[in-house]
Amino acid sequence: MSLQEVWQSFLDIIYPRDIRCPICGVKRDDMLSWGVCQSCQSRLPFIEPPICPKCGRMMLIDNRLCLDCQQANHAFYKGISIFEFSTEVKGLIHRYKYRGEKHLSIPMIHWMMEGLKVYRWDFDIIVPVPLHPSRERQRGFNQAKILAQGLSKNTDIPLDSKSLIRVKNTPHQTKLNRQERKRNLQYAFRVKETDGKLKVFQDKVILLVDDVYTTGSTADQCSRVLLDSGASKVYLITLATGANF
Ligand SMILES: [Zn+2]
Ligand SMILES: [Zn+2]
Repeated sequence: MSLQEVWQSFLDIIYPRDIRCPICGVKRDDMLSWGVCQSCQSRLPFIEPPICPKCGRMMLIDNRLCLDCQQANHAFYKGISIFEFSTEVKGLIHRYKYRGEKHLSIPMIHWMMEGLKVYRWDFDIIVPVPLHPSRERQRGFNQAKILAQGLSKNTDIPLDSKSLIRVKNTPHQTKLNRQERKRNLQYAFRVKETDGKLKVFQDKVILLVDDVYTTGSTADQCSRVLLDSGASKVYLITLATGANF
């Protein structure tokens, strides 16, 4: 059994999968091993070139960087995302995050793994974007942490979901513009330092994991504190990303 299969059968126990495709809801015989049917898989808006080499979103024309990255000085080194944030993908993430359909993490982890295989980045630790403890209690889980755990199991690269913490319980960002998001997130994250000598992430290359990339404010704020804590580089992977630039 491959590591992925072991992980999958483990997930099957905690989050039993329906034999129906979780996207179209139909019992089909073209189910793929990661639990969605072939026809849903082929309809999903996978990100395709031209892709911004900095943030990973699709560009309309093959520029050096997307318009956003030309202006923003993103703190992460490079990012990739798997899907465009279409209505369908938005729905899928919404079900996973707010309706607690944790079994959707199985295909999500699979798709993110495929993305990582293409880019072949070298990193030492996988770190999920944290939720504020009260938000995590309310939701019952951190959606980014489950994805990060899956990536860690599949790559055999250690997960650290404890050192980067969210200390400010910020309001939902959905309706905020870039400046408001930035302000909202200022000092929202911190790295829990141990009483010791070395910084927690000293000289480590980090893969930061989140579900959605919009303006990059969250990724930037997390990356800044990780870099302050000694990280040498922060890569970013998200499941979906916002509009074209
Ligand atoms: Zn389907
Ligand atoms: Zn970009």
